[in-house]
Amino acid sequence: MASGERQRTCRACGKKFDYPVKGGAATRHHCEDCTAVPAETRKILERLSSRVAQLENQLRRLQEKSAPPPT
Ligand SMILES: [Zn+2]
Repeated sequence: MASGERQRTCRACGKKFDYPVKGGAATRHHCEDCTAVPAETRKILERLSSRVAQLENQLRRLQEKSAPPPT
């Protein structure tokens, strides 16, 4: 389902979260959990998270290539 612009994906942990939430600590790019993490640590999380996303895409491509399309 196409969610509105209120649903965002956290850059650091990849979690989907609602933004803005009244009284919530979440920011435009980070969920509430990750805003509690120091900025330097969050940077590392972001790096790892983008690598995971890359690997997931790669894996999906490989799976599409090796698995015959469902009939
Ligand atoms: Zn997060």
